[in-house]
Amino acid sequence: MTRLIFLGAPGAGKGTQAQALAQEYGIPHISTGDILRGAVASKTELGLKAKSYMDAGELVPDQLMLDLVRDRLSAEDAKVGWILDGFPRTVGQARFLDTLLNEIHQSCSHVVNFDVPDEALVARLLGRGRVDDTDAVIRNRLEVYHQQTAPLIDFYSNRGQLVLIDGSQSIEAISATLRQTLQPHPRAK
Ligand code: AMP
Repeated sequence: MTRLIFLGAPGAGKGTQAQALAQEYGIPHISTGDILRGAVASKTELGLKAKSYMDAGELVPDQLMLDLVRDRLSAEDAKVGWILDGFPRTVGQARFLDTLLNEIHQSCSHVVNFDVPDEALVARLLGRGRVDDTDAVIRNRLEVYHQQTAPLIDFYSNRGQLVLIDGSQSIEAISATLRQTLQPHPRAK
């Protein structure tokens, strides 16, 4: 069973890799950012509450995130595995995820960290042109990443669960390294 957590700064390329790998393995790609953007677009209660944080490059409060992740990981299609992209983003969220996985009798196979220097991230994010990718918001998102998310690298590394990938390579090279590093998925053709 493949259950992966993808870690990395915004712009590190984890979404692109997660999407391709999930499709190949026939498992859901669970991006909390995509779920939140969908909620904002359809103006659900979650979307209305999350929007101002996302626009500012801040993290959406845990109180909104935890229910969302619990529901998504408990859904039927997540029984065959999953790739979690953008969650956890704080040590608190990682602890919540530990408890949740325990409760639903699942365990994560690997935590993959995509490492990219800040200068390269800024260039990539500015080129991406998403609404929350303006200069000031990008700088804030990177600061939030370093303060709140980067500590997860040590958190998972101390448990021997971490796989490190050089995310500054080309999409093709990252993709090849990733597949060499991970065990083949039983359902992959
Ligand atoms: P992403 O597409 O993963 O870069 O997420 C876009 C935005 O959604 C982030 O800047 C946050 O505002 C919010 N977001 C996504 N995932 C989380 C999370 N795990 N915790 C808090 N906020 C999140």
